[in-house]
Amino acid sequence: MERVCENCAREDDDLVLVNRVYVVPERWDTAGSSTTVPGGELWCFSCRSMYPHDVVEPEG
Ligand SMILES: [Zn+2]
Repeated sequence: MERVCENCAREDDDLVLVNRVYVVPERWDTAGSSTTVPGGELWCFSCRSMYPHDVVEPEG
């Protein structure tokens, strides 16, 4: 079975389970914040280097 990155859909062997993080930049009227989206997605190295995320540590 081929594994593809769930963010960019590119085939890659180096996929890591992450939780996507949405970052809200600070504005003049609101403080910045970030929201972690649970559930987990497999991301390739390129996406992990470009987009904010939390790496899901394997259990055990
Ligand atoms: Zn990717």
